[in-house]
Order: sequence, then structure tokens, then C-alpha cells
Amino acid sequence: MTVQISIPAQLLPHDGRFGSGPAKVRAGAVQTLADVAPAYLGTSHRRPPVKATIRRIRSGLRSLFSLPDGYEIVLGNGGSTAFWDIAAYGLIERRSRHAVYGAFGRAFVDVVRAAPHLRPADVVEAAFGEFVSLDPASGIDAYALIHNETSTGVMATPRRVPGGLMLVDGTSAAGAVPFDVEDVDAYYFSPQKAFGADGGLWITILSPAAIERSHRIAESGRSIPPFLSLTAAIARSRNDETVNTPALATLYLLDSQIGWLLDQGGVAWAARRCQATADRLYRWAGEVPYATPFVSDPSRRSPVTVTIDMTVDTQVLDTILRAHGILDTHSYRKLGRNQLRVGVWPATDPDDVERLIASIEYVVERL
Ligand SMILES: *Cc1c(COP(=O)(O)O)cnc(C)c1O
Repeated sequence: MTVQISIPAQLLPHDGRFGSGPAKVRAGAVQTLADVAPAYLGTSHRRPPVKATIRRIRSGLRSLFSLPDGYEIVLGNGGSTAFWDIAAYGLIERRSRHAVYGAFGRAFVDVVRAAPHLRPADVVEAAFGEFVSLDPASGIDAYALIHNETSTGVMATPRRVPGGLMLVDGTSAAGAVPFDVEDVDAYYFSPQKAFGADGGLWITILSPAAIERSHRIAESGRSIPPFLSLTAAIARSRNDETVNTPALATLYLLDSQIGWLLDQGGVAWAARRCQATADRLYRWAGEVPYATPFVSDPSRRSPVTVTIDMTVDTQVLDTILRAHGILDTHSYRKLGRNQLRVGVWPATDPDDVERLIASIEYVVERL
């Protein structure tokens, strides 16, 4: 079925990127990348200026997250998905416990289950759209949770569970949702969400306990595929390098976004902005008859990936929005719900979200 609806140009967002990752990349960052390209893109990653970029990323993230002494920023190739394997080989000693309240939490469990040297993962699970927290248990040396479950829009608050390393997936929260660094041992993320860059990297904050654990496991004789060696990544990162060749454009855009966030007022600024924009969407969803926030507990609603169940056909809606340059408002594919999911990141202009709402209302009134 095709529906001919033309949204008036004056209603449309100026930037139509509302995806939950990859997410909007600031035009200014792309422009400066183009400007520096002749002396940067296509140059050695073992030389300045690329090493200087990694140095700035590492020190910028230290400032952004106010890291205490002993915590380190470590990075490598492969995104958060690769870090799950790295954690399974280099951070979990024997058995981990996982809180699962969405597809990303489940994906990490699948990685751990496939690791031959680990005992089967211990899992506590909530229905999608709800939250479950982690309690301490005996025989567990690592606790895993997702700070912001991108697939469902459920947000957690990382809290230390005594007796194990805290492995926190901050992929879609880092840079936009505050947390207490003392409550995490490995807080990992990718650059293509709040950091408004391109994908391909994993970045992690490691506590002294996590660094110590990774060395102890490496020396224990466990067979670790070299590409998944966390101790190798730590050594390279300390030298402002990665184990193998990184995407230089991604590094540049990440560095640019860290500088931009620090200039704007850091994570506190980003958190206020994202929360206010997300609240606007949740309020709207509570007001119109065809929308309902998916996460019923308001305290668990994500300030960055806003999920809204709809009674109008979101496939039709998505097609019409897409034809007008409003992109990626569809729900997480494996969730299988008639749902809108809107990424509201530090780079997302709150006025564009007002325009998104106006555009959706315009379409729904004519469907
Ligand atoms: C996007 C995302 C991932 C996967 O990140 P990649 O960079 O694609 O590996 C993992 N966890 C969460 C919570 C995410 O949002």
C-alpha cells in the first residue's frame, strides 16, 4: 500500500537523523575532517597526527568522565560487539551473572555461553520493556548489565554488586547519561551513538581491578586469541595506538565530539539536554490517543532511545517519514513491536524533535 501524504516543508526537521546508532554526526565535524584530510586521512596510525588524536581522545575521555587515578581508557577495533568477546576471554574468570532486559544483554550472554573456558552464564531476566537488577551470588566473579538497553529503551543505574567485576555496557549511554565511575570496572561503548562519530571502535574505561584481572588471566595460561587480548590492547592504548589499523575518520570524529561535549558543559550538560528532549517525547506520547510509552515505569525510561508503542501502522508511517528525509525512527528489528524509537543524542537539536512530533501528527491525521 502506498499512501500519498506530503508533509509541508516548514514542519520538517532541519536534520532528519533520529536513529539509535549510527546516529547524527555533526556537520561541523565532517567539515573539519574534510579540511584536515590531506594531512590526516591516509597517514600512518603509528605516527602523529593519528597518535596525537588518540592521545586527545584518551585524555578528553578522562576529563569527560572525571576518572580517578588508576582508571584507564583503552580502545581497539570491532565495536562493543568485539568487546563482549574480549571480556569473555580477558575479564571473566569463571562465571558471570547477567541482567537481561533486552537484545543487547542477551547477545552478551550468548557470547559467554560460547566461551569454552567459562561456566554457563547465570542470567536474571525481565520481560522486554521491564527492568531487573543484579543481586550478589556465590561463585560469581563478574556482573554484567546494560546501562541503556538500546533495543527496548530501558535504562539502568549501574550500582556495584560486591564480589565481582562490574562489566557495564554503556554503548548508548556513554556521554549522555551520568554514572558513578566507582561503580564500574569495565564501562565500554562504541563511538556511533552519543559520541556522534562512525562505528568500528570499542572504547572502555577500566578500573585498577579490571586491569589487574586481565593480567592475571593472561598469565594463567588461558588460551586467548591474540585479537581478543585485552592486555595487548591495554599496552597499545598506553602508547596511544591500537593493536591493528583503526578507521582514522572514526577517531577524528570521536575526538571532535569529545571536544565539543567538553566545550558545551560535559556529560551534565548532555544529560540535561537529552533528558529534556526525551521527556518532551514521552509527554507527547502520553497525550495523543495513538501513542503510549513502551516502558511503563517512568523511572526506567531511557533519556536517549525513546520507545513509543503506536496504534497506527509504523511501517507506513516510517515509509512516509523516510520519503521526507526523516530517518530511522523504526523500532529495534528483533523486538517485533509496532513501535517508534527515536534517538535523542547530545547532537540532536531539541527543535528538530518538536518538528518530528509535528510531522508525525500531520501524517497520522491524514492516514
Ligand atoms: C549499539 C549497541 C551495541 C553494539 O555496538 P557495535 O558498535 O555495533 O558493536 C552493543 N550494546 C548496546 C547497548 C548498543 O546500543
